[in-house]
Amino acid sequence: MNKESVVAKKKFGQNFLKDQSILVKIVEAMPKNENRLVEIGPGLGDLTKFLVDVKSVEAFEVDTDLCKLLQSTFKEEIATKRLHINCGDVLQAWKSSLVDEPYDLVANLPYYIATNIILKALADPMCKNILVMVQLEVAEKFCAIEGQKVFGSLGIITQSVGTAKIIVKVPPTAFDPQPKIDSAVFLIQKETDRSDKDFEDMLRVAFSQPRKTLMKNLSAKYEKSLLQEVFEKLKLIQTTRPHQVSTKDYHQLYTLIK
Ligand code: SAM
Repeated sequence: MNKESVVAKKKFGQNFLKDQSILVKIVEAMPKNENRLVEIGPGLGDLTKFLVDVKSVEAFEVDTDLCKLLQSTFKEEIATKRLHINCGDVLQAWKSSLVDEPYDLVANLPYYIATNIILKALADPMCKNILVMVQLEVAEKFCAIEGQKVFGSLGIITQSVGTAKIIVKVPPTAFDPQPKIDSAVFLIQKETDRSDKDFEDMLRVAFSQPRKTLMKNLSAKYEKSLLQEVFEKLKLIQTTRPHQVSTKDYHQLYTLIK
C-alpha cells in the first residue's frame, strides 16, 4: 500500500489536509516550550512530517492500514525515537493522562469525536496546550466569549482553564476528500485543568434551554427563593439569558448555590 492508493474511510472521519500553507500555519502557531508533542490521527502523515522536524511525537492512529503505512514512511524517525506510533482507538488508550509527561496536543482531529477529545485534553493534567483543527462551529463554541450567541458551557469550561483563540479558518478545498463544512484551527493555552464536575452539571442546567432565561433554567434544579437572593447579590436581572453571563459570574453563582 502507498499513499496514493489510500481510500479515505468515512467511519474514521478521514479528510486529509492537503493545503501546505495551513500545515505551515499550524506549526507556526505551536507554543514554544519543552513539552512533548501528541498527534491524534496522523492519517497519511502530512502534519506528522512537519511535527517530527520540530520535536519528538507520540501519535495515536486507529486505522491499522494507515498505521502500517506510517510505520514504513517514518522508519527512520521511529528508529531514532523521534516518533512513536500507537495503533488503536485513542479514547480507549486514554486513562487519566494520555502520556506520562507534559505534552501539547497538535492535530487535525477526526470531527466525529473532536469535542470529546478536547474535553478529555482539558481535564488531562499532562496536557498543557491544545492546537487542533475541528469543524468551524465547534472551534467558535470553544473560543466564544460572553454575549455571543454561541457562548455556552464549552466556552465557559475553556475560559475556566485558560485562553482560546482561532488561528485560521479553513475551507473544504484544503482537504481530500473535501468535507461538507468549514473548519478552523484553534489554540487553547491551559493554565489549570478542568476538574469540577458539579460546576459543569450546573452549566448543563443553566444552558438546558438557551433561549429561556437563566432563572427559568436554573429553577428546574434549585430553589427559586435561593436563586432570587443570589441573583440580587450578583446584580443579575431576572430576564438575563444564559449566554449573557460571564464565566466569572457563573463561578460566583456556583459558589453561592451549591
Ligand atoms: N492528520 C491527518 C491530516 O491532517 O491529514 C488526518 C486527519 S483526519 C481528519 C483524522 C484522523 O484521525 C484519521 O487518520 C483517522 O483514521 C484518525 N482517527 C479517527 N478516529 C480515531 C480514534 N478513535 N483514535 C485515533 N485516531 C483516530
